[in-house]
Amino acid sequence: MDQVEHIADLIASLSSEELTVLRQKIAFLALPSIKPGDSTTQATQPISTPKEKPPCPACGSSFVKRAGKYRGRNRYKCLSCSKRFNDLTATPLAGIHSGDKLREFAARMAEGGESLRKSTKNFDISLSTAFKWRHKILRGYSVAPARKLKGIAEADETFFLYSEKGDKSVQERRKPRKRGGKATKVGISDEQVPVVVGCDRQGEMILGVAGRGRISVKDIEQVLGKRVDPRAVLCTDSHAIFRAFAKANRIKYKPVNIRKGRRIVGKVNHIQHVNSAHTRLKTWMARFKGVSTKRLDNYMQWYGLMEETKPLDDTKEAFIGRSVTQRLRN
Ligand SMILES: [Zn+2]
Repeated sequence: MDQVEHIADLIASLSSEELTVLRQKIAFLALPSIKPGDSTTQATQPISTPKEKPPCPACGSSFVKRAGKYRGRNRYKCLSCSKRFNDLTATPLAGIHSGDKLREFAARMAEGGESLRKSTKNFDISLSTAFKWRHKILRGYSVAPARKLKGIAEADETFFLYSEKGDKSVQERRKPRKRGGKATKVGISDEQVPVVVGCDRQGEMILGVAGRGRISVKDIEQVLGKRVDPRAVLCTDSHAIFRAFAKANRIKYKPVNIRKGRRIVGKVNHIQHVNSAHTRLKTWMARFKGVSTKRLDNYMQWYGLMEETKPLDDTKEAFIGRSVTQRLRN
């Protein structure tokens, strides 16, 4: 067991790229009996058909019975309210004639996404449909079961410029008056929108918009509250706000004082993963040429879902499973 502890310490010092490779190696060791073709057969399967009967989307009752299949989807009848439903009822896929298209659209989002204009050509849909689909998919993820940061966790904030881009209609997006640019005020002002990013060494990442201008404990709470395992150790820069958040949530706290040049405390406690995450996030966001602040959180969730599914063997299916096939209610 000592050896395991030692290895765990070593693992904690790996970068997220190294962790991805390690995870694949371990998965291979743990599943020696899986044939190479198995994952591909799973990937081409249509919408997953859960073996367990889902609860009724209308009344929440789990007193349901199977009612055959239609177009490869399981159908059910609720014995409490008599309503009929299928696997996709109440998910973002419900009522969409081109459900397979939406799945493919989501699969492209798993790879980083393409411009809405490109989507209109690739999927033969209008600009407003492409826009709706993008956010419909992300709405599904917003209801997916929440994950937690465990072990050594890192948190930090980064800023995006406030933007009212495309506020009235999608059509207006064609000619934005101003793209990107720099804040006119010096320091942190209301022109800047903080995003709190938390990650751990298992590859988990949680991010979200945290108010406007300077962040408060409440803002951090909004993003990371209940999302950090109580046994975790939270590493941040010496920002008093994060210290207060950790204290309020009774989480062990390790400040890393960057200003004094001490980037690494006790070898494993550093915030290099979250700092590199900020860089990757900014690089990815650049492709959208500025998004409206109103929608910024959706993009943060999108990025989180990409990070969450990237190390998995079947990234696309996992991305779809955690977004478009999620029940939006019940
Ligand atoms: Zn019912």
